[in-house]
Amino acid sequence: MLNVLFKLVFLCLSLAVLVPVSANNLTKTQTDTLLQQLSDQDVRSFDAFLSQVSSLNPDLGAITGVYRSGQVMAAQQQAELFRLLGIYTRVRYAAEAQQVLAELVAIPTFLDDSVAQYDNPAFHQIAARLEALAVEFGLSFRNVDNRIYEITLPGAPADNTELVALHAHADVVPANAADWVLDDGTQLDPFTLTEIDGRLHGRGAEDNKNGILAVMYAMRVIAQEQLPLQRTLRLLVDTTEETTGEAMPYYLERNPLPDFNIALDGGYPVIIAEKGYGTLLARLLDFLYESGHVVYMKDNHLVDAILYAVSNFGLDYTGRQLGIGFTDDFMGPLTASLTYVKVDNTGMELITNLRVPKGRDIGELKQEILDRLAEWSAMSNLPLDLELDIAEPMFRNPEGQWIQTLLDVATENLALPREFMSSDGATSIHDLPNGVQFGLAMPGIKYTGHTDNEFKTVEQFQLDLQIVTEMLARIGTLEAM
Ligand SMILES: [Zn+2]
Repeated sequence: MLNVLFKLVFLCLSLAVLVPVSANNLTKTQTDTLLQQLSDQDVRSFDAFLSQVSSLNPDLGAITGVYRSGQVMAAQQQAELFRLLGIYTRVRYAAEAQQVLAELVAIPTFLDDSVAQYDNPAFHQIAARLEALAVEFGLSFRNVDNRIYEITLPGAPADNTELVALHAHADVVPANAADWVLDDGTQLDPFTLTEIDGRLHGRGAEDNKNGILAVMYAMRVIAQEQLPLQRTLRLLVDTTEETTGEAMPYYLERNPLPDFNIALDGGYPVIIAEKGYGTLLARLLDFLYESGHVVYMKDNHLVDAILYAVSNFGLDYTGRQLGIGFTDDFMGPLTASLTYVKVDNTGMELITNLRVPKGRDIGELKQEILDRLAEWSAMSNLPLDLELDIAEPMFRNPEGQWIQTLLDVATENLALPREFMSSDGATSIHDLPNGVQFGLAMPGIKYTGHTDNEFKTVEQFQLDLQIVTEMLARIGTLEAM
């Protein structure tokens, strides 16, 4: 029955798209009230859920009535219906998804130096689990040479080949179990998902096994309800995001380039710019001297290192000292911070981490940095060997219905200002067409990926299921992106 109704909904989409979507969808407060009211109810299907919702909240009965009657739905009503679909996903599947998250966290998918990631049995295990899940959810699964796992929900019209990729990753950074201790002394196991005080602790709970599940459950519900998809939705699960980054280029050489690329491994609401990541490696030469047959370090090597750091980078981290500082109004300042000093008997190395906003030619900037440091080196009589690499910053001019829809969905559900944002960190969509970050971390809240005791709150984990479902339902069914 739902299938038929959605077909009717679909028929009116071309009309509906002309109607501006007003912002009077369910607010976060209304959603929270509804969730509270539903907390003791057993929800079995979307159809039953809509009945429950309309008896709890007569205001929402109207949308349910329109939907059931098969009347033409305005864009606003459609948006409201998909908000309810997101809430349904959360109410129906959150507990189950949390159990599956525990299973995925238990699979130790960190780098084993002795074996290539694609030959590592832990990855074969997680691929098998995701495949079983995809089959259960009515989605197609394809393991691309153990590099990328594809989970696909095909779009209906044969003449539309548009492909929307959602990006998440199954690999994690290592965890030292001894360091996973809470303030009260509770010892945690990084690979056992542990719920304490509303937090789900475990390696990968935030970065980024949660992202895989948010997309898979959203696709499951969209498949179940047979939404009239206008384009294909595809989850790409990366296996080398935390290490070599080789899996995605390998995949893209052999597979179609997705037209739209949404990473769920960054921040909310919608991040349209990522700074260009750079590293400057400086090797201080003239570091050793020989006396007799013994090689010694110069006594003043640390003084040299301090001199290099203070003279060129100072303590403001914005590159002003070196004369390369600049700020982009939207993306913020260039930052340059000395993050690594290594001294051993072969020499001394200093690494400065650069994050560069848009606004300058990267080639010119690199040359300028090298020239200034060469000047300094000559003036201070301290020979330097320099290696500098800076990636282009990413900036997407936000255009099109799809990106406005992403912004609506995220900011309305999270009660955030309706503004696009910029990030200091790069994700796997940095160089891909129409690439943006859409969650799953809240701005202003400490991100715990890569740290001891990594956690995702239960509330945010559930909210992500809801938001990602609504987002995919909406952009999947848009008449035009
Ligand atoms: Zn990540």
